[in-house]
Amino acid sequence: MVEVGPEEIREVAELVAHDLLATLDWPPERAMLFARERAQEVAESLNRNQDDDDEDSVPPHYFAFCVAEEAQLVVHDYQWDTSWPTCPNHPHPMWLRSGDHPLVWRCRNEGAVAPLGGLPDGPVSKDASS
Ligand SMILES: [Zn+2]
Repeated sequence: MVEVGPEEIREVAELVAHDLLATLDWPPERAMLFARERAQEVAESLNRNQDDDDEDSVPPHYFAFCVAEEAQLVVHDYQWDTSWPTCPNHPHPMWLRSGDHPLVWRCRNEGAVAPLGGLPDGPVSKDASS
């Protein structure tokens, strides 16, 4: 696959940071730093494994998928929120599918809920409060 560059790292970090901010009670700086660190780690790992020749099998949003999945694992592992991002209709986490284009958070029962980077804000919506 094509090497992950700084532009893509920044874009994907912003998507993930948005979803963290919409759903967790984190200060923006924490969400952004956390997302950037995950994106940087995943990019380095993908860029290290450039030698496989199966470019065609890499889904279009594979980097974003890996970053979001990594962020999800860390948020769960540290028990900051063990169901992040929580499904709006059930007490379970939502998941991404690597083959989706664009990537969407999915409820395991009801399918697509919101795009990556597009999770609605928690209890208080931004529109209502501004
Ligand atoms: Zn659900």
